Amino acid sequence: MIDIVVIGAGIAGLTCAQQLRQAGYQVVVLDKSRGVGGRFATRRLYDTRADHGLRAVTPQGSLSAQLIQVLSDRRLLQLWPRQVAFLGADGVLSATVAAEPSYTSPQGASAIAKCLAVGLEILLNWQVQAIVADTGIWQITGMTASGKALAVAAKAVVVTTPAPQAQAILAKQTLPAEFLAALDAVEFHPCFSVMAGYKVTALNLPSWQTCEISHGNLAWVGLDSSKRPQSEIPVFVFQSTAEFAQKHLETSDLDAVARMILAEAAQLLAPWLATPKWFEIHRWRYAFPSRPLNQDYLSTTDPLPLVCAGDWCGDRLVESALQSGIAAAEAINRQLDKRSLLGADFFAHL
Ligand SMILES: Cc1cc2nc3c(=O)[nH]c(=O)nc-3n(C[C@H](O)[C@H](O)[C@H](O)COP(=O)(O)OP(=O)(O)OC[C@H]3O[C@@H](n4cnc5c(N)ncnc54)[C@H](O)[C@@H]3O)c2cc1C
Repeated sequence: MIDIVVIGAGIAGLTCAQQLRQAGYQVVVLDKSRGVGGRFATRRLYDTRADHGLRAVTPQGSLSAQLIQVLSDRRLLQLWPRQVAFLGADGVLSATVAAEPSYTSPQGASAIAKCLAVGLEILLNWQVQAIVADTGIWQITGMTASGKALAVAAKAVVVTTPAPQAQAILAKQTLPAEFLAALDAVEFHPCFSVMAGYKVTALNLPSWQTCEISHGNLAWVGLDSSKRPQSEIPVFVFQSTAEFAQKHLETSDLDAVARMILAEAAQLLAPWLATPKWFEIHRWRYAFPSRPLNQDYLSTTDPLPLVCAGDWCGDRLVESALQSGIAAAEAINRQLDKRSLLGADFFAHL
C-alpha cells in the first residue's frame, strides 16, 4: 500500500509531493492528463509551441520569487522583456509601458512543471473517479482515456485539483459537513484560450507584446512567440473574458468560438488577426479561482487522512498554489508520522 497518493500534477500537487518525498514517504502522483503541469500548459503545434494556460511567472510573494530565482539560475526561466498596451472602452490603445518583471521559459510553461516533477513517481492518463474509505485505507479508483479501469490504495490522500473537481472525486464518500461546505463555497471563472500562428512579417507586428482589454469578449492578448527568440512565425494567444467563456462553455463547436475570438481581435487590434495560418482553442472550465477559500488547505481525518489544496486556497494564483502545496504536505505529515524533514528548503531538490 502506498503512503500518500497526491491527485493532480499541477504546481500545488508537485510541490506537495516533493515535500513529502523528501520527508521519506512513498508518494505516488496521479493525473488525468498526458503530461504534468495542469494550468502550466504548453501545446506543441505546427513546429512551434504556445503557452495556452499560465502567461508568465511573476514574483507574487516569497515562494514565487524563490522559484524565479532558482529556475533563472538554471536558465530555465528568462525575463520576458515585454511592453504592455491597454485597450480602453473608448477603443483607444494606450501607449505601451514596460511591464512588471515577468518570467517565462522558452521551452514553454510546462517545462517549469517538468523541473518540479523530477524524482517523483507520477502516473499520467489516470483520471481519478472516486476515493472511498474501506477497512482503514483509501481506495482510489479511476480510468484511462481509453476506458481501462484503475485502482490503488493509500494511507492518506491529497487532492490538488480545482475544488469543483475535488468535490466530484469525493462525492461517494461521507465527509464532515463543514469540510464539504467549505469546498462547495469555492468558485472558479472559466476562460477560452485561442492559439494562432500568422504569416505576417515582423514589420506588421504591434509595438506591444501583451495587451489588456477592458471591454468586450477578449481579456488579454499575448505575442507568445516573443518568449522564444528563435520562433519562426508570430504566434498569438488570445484569452477570453469569463463572461464570454461562461456563455459558450458547453458548446460542441469550439472552432466557431475560436473564430468569434479571432474576429473580435481583428476588429479591436489589427484586421489580419482574423485570418491566421492555423489556430487551436482550449477550454479552461476552471481557469481562475473567483471565490477562493482564504486558508492554506482543507483537511480532515474523518474517516481517514485527507487534505485538499490548490491555487483556490488563496488569491495569488501561482504563489497560492505553491503555498497551499507546501502547507498541505505539512498537514498530512502532522496526520501521519510527523517526520521532521518538512519545512526544509523546498527548492533544494531542484
Ligand atoms: C489561461 C490561464 C492563464 C493564467 N495566467 C496566469 C498568470 O499569468 N499568472 C499566474 O500567477 N497564474 C496564472 N494562471 C493561473 C495558474 O496557472 C494557476 O494558479 C496554477 O497553475 C494552479 O496550479 P494548481 O496546481 O493549483 O492547479 P492545476 O494546475 O489546475 O492542477 C490540477 C491538476 O489536477 C488534474 N486533475 C483534475 N481532475 C483530475 C482527476 N479527476 N484525476 C486526476 N487528475 C485530475 C489536472 O489535470 C491538473 O493537472 C493562469 C491560468 C489560466 C487557465
